[in-house]
Amino acid sequence: MTVATASSPTNTTIDTMPTDATTLDRIHQIYSQPLPDLMFEAQRIHREHHDPRAIQLCTLGNIKSGACPEDCGYCSQSVHNSSGLAPEPLMQSAAVLQEAQAAKASGSTRFCMGAAWREVKDGPQFDRVLDMVRDVAALDMEVCCTLGMLKPHQAQQLKEAGLTAYNHNLDTSPSYYEKVITSRTYQDRLDTIKAVSDAGISVCCGGIVGMGESQTDRLEFLEALLKLDPVPESIPINSLIPIAGTPLENAPPIDPIDMVRMIATTRILFPTAIVRLTAGRAAMSDELQAMCFVAGANSIFTGPVLLTAPNPSRDHDGELLRRLGMVAKTN
Ligand code: SAM
Ligand code: SF4
Repeated sequence: MTVATASSPTNTTIDTMPTDATTLDRIHQIYSQPLPDLMFEAQRIHREHHDPRAIQLCTLGNIKSGACPEDCGYCSQSVHNSSGLAPEPLMQSAAVLQEAQAAKASGSTRFCMGAAWREVKDGPQFDRVLDMVRDVAALDMEVCCTLGMLKPHQAQQLKEAGLTAYNHNLDTSPSYYEKVITSRTYQDRLDTIKAVSDAGISVCCGGIVGMGESQTDRLEFLEALLKLDPVPESIPINSLIPIAGTPLENAPPIDPIDMVRMIATTRILFPTAIVRLTAGRAAMSDELQAMCFVAGANSIFTGPVLLTAPNPSRDHDGELLRRLGMVAKTN
């Protein structure tokens, strides 16, 4: 067996490569470097911009569940899939406020409200969501919404209501997207992201790995994030939760080492962003999560349910952070 001899470590960042390399070449070079070099570079950059021991706790509330007309191949809430999820109408504002208050009491500094809509429609339901945004903002929490596609005037109304961020994930590469979702286009996503940015709301935009995509798809997804102007301030990286009754229920899971590489490369490409280790943590070992934190992930979603899927308990997350000597961000 030939063992590669260790050359002097050459940490690779997006700025230390020949300028004739394409952006994708440079992302590939960062991603595929020896793991010790990649982790060192990610941790170095992470420390330049963040407290490496601090993790932002977030809570995601599902304010309108199921019966979504979109055909996202991963999603339990799509009417096109047969996950068996019982749909729920838009929650009452008081119940959402209670969830946000409980989230704050358990250490979350960001409360995200997700609705299984294709798009926002003007009218009493959107007015109720605007009230929810005002209520949560009044708790002195970061308030995020993820409601599907938005028009510019709706983004402006959310901004005026006090919205901190809007989540709208690109999920994967432009070429793989149509293999996962056919009821909308990548450009539809980009149009909503632009409306959000133009309204002065910060963009939360990330994706999913483990859907059967190639490594190139993963890197082209990161390249697509880099092309956003401004780049996202919040990047959720989801590991597919295979949902029975969805087309992706038997997708091959991502190699855990590749998950660490994905987090570390995201950190290097987006030094100031909050990188959120999001869906899929219930299937991750504590050791894998710890490596993702060292690689630069600095946020998790807490609470026993993430939208409609299981998530580690708050107690388990608290014990993990304690064992790691890490703390929940407070500001
Ligand atoms: N309906 C809104 C939309 O599609 O923009 C809300 C999205 S909500 C934040 C769901 C997000 O979580 C999706 O954009 C996707 O990235 C992620 N997600 C949904 N189902 C998932 C699953 N089974 N495994 C991993 N990530 C999932
Ligand atoms: Fe609907 Fe969002 Fe699920 Fe897609 S991810 S089916 S848009 S709820």
